[in-house]
Amino acid sequence: MLSPEGNTALSSDPRWGIFRAGAGEPLPSLYVHVPFCPFRCAYCDFDFTTRTASVDAYLAALAVEVRAVGGMLHPETLFFGGGTPSLLSEGAFARLADTLRAEISWDRVAEWSIEVNPETVTPEKACAWKGLGVTRVSLGAQTFSDERLAALGRRARAADALGAWEILRAAGFKNLNVDLIYGIPGTGVSEWREDLDAALALGPDHVSVYALTVEEKTPLGIHVRRGETIPVSEELSAALYQEAVERLSGGGLLRYEVSNFARPGEECRHNLNTWHGGEYLGCGASAASFVGPMRGANVRGEGLYRKAIAQKRSAFRSERTLDSAERLRERVVLGLRLAEGVPEGDVQAAGLEGDVERLIADGFLTVARGRVAPTDRGFHFADTISAACV
Ligand code: SF4
Repeated sequence: MLSPEGNTALSSDPRWGIFRAGAGEPLPSLYVHVPFCPFRCAYCDFDFTTRTASVDAYLAALAVEVRAVGGMLHPETLFFGGGTPSLLSEGAFARLADTLRAEISWDRVAEWSIEVNPETVTPEKACAWKGLGVTRVSLGAQTFSDERLAALGRRARAADALGAWEILRAAGFKNLNVDLIYGIPGTGVSEWREDLDAALALGPDHVSVYALTVEEKTPLGIHVRRGETIPVSEELSAALYQEAVERLSGGGLLRYEVSNFARPGEECRHNLNTWHGGEYLGCGASAASFVGPMRGANVRGEGLYRKAIAQKRSAFRSERTLDSAERLRERVVLGLRLAEGVPEGDVQAAGLEGDVERLIADGFLTVARGRVAPTDRGFHFADTISAACV
């Protein structure tokens, strides 16, 4: 494992202090944020920019951060999210991959996921990703209707998603995910069923479904505020979610987390580590880290991120330090998002028996074989469970 001592840049990164103070176990997961997008989706509140002229400067800053903190890692999983990681050219992606391989112990990496948008997938890029060691690709299809894609402000059309899927399979990717969004204003169960069926027709290994959330400062949020767009009702949203559960399970994709469905054995290991309360390191603008008892994130905005690195400052800001009781409680709350649930003993150790008993009485949770897990109702109201347990 590399040490930071030879690297004076960012040596004050608070993650090192807490890492050294802990058991010194290297972290098993790395998230890398690639914040560039070719356009803005109407609903997006993520940390992204369309100023793609900064890509090279950003990747140079990212390399500095990876050199400074990569020694904390011995990763089993990598996840490149965004933004649109697939916007990077083959050359830029290869440079980033080379930096990671040079700075991080690589022998345990078993899963390397990247998020891609359909219109940016080419045969050349897909082959390059495969050749560099990417094992899992998540395709942001969102819907297979051109009309609904236009309503979301997406640039890709349904044909782009189908084409990208073919390219990815032809490049040899076995583990592919489709991201879908439900609850697009003006649509109901029949439109959603079409999207689910179109996704299942691809033969995916994993499907993620997300309710469209209306964020205030997005173009969608502004339309809703002006009354030009009416969000779907809670009741319809619940019916759409239930439709996804039934249709996807009928297609062999089992719900293992609130929003995630997979063929057995194809669950996303990287995200499972997070839901199991495991540690991870995040590099790049706004990337979150959980090191020892400390949670925090890098500054949001690729410009501010580059500025911090250029000034040899860490971009990381600590947000909370958890004591052991808080950490256990958090692990239980995260675990209650999973179909496998959590052991009853952990619920007791976390002092959450009273909250959990009420949630069982209200039909949100159930107990089986010594584990507490969400019911169908609990999956749909996962936020209610989290709020009740804090
Ligand atoms: S592609 Fe993703 S990150 Fe980029 S604008 Fe659209 S939703 Fe946001």
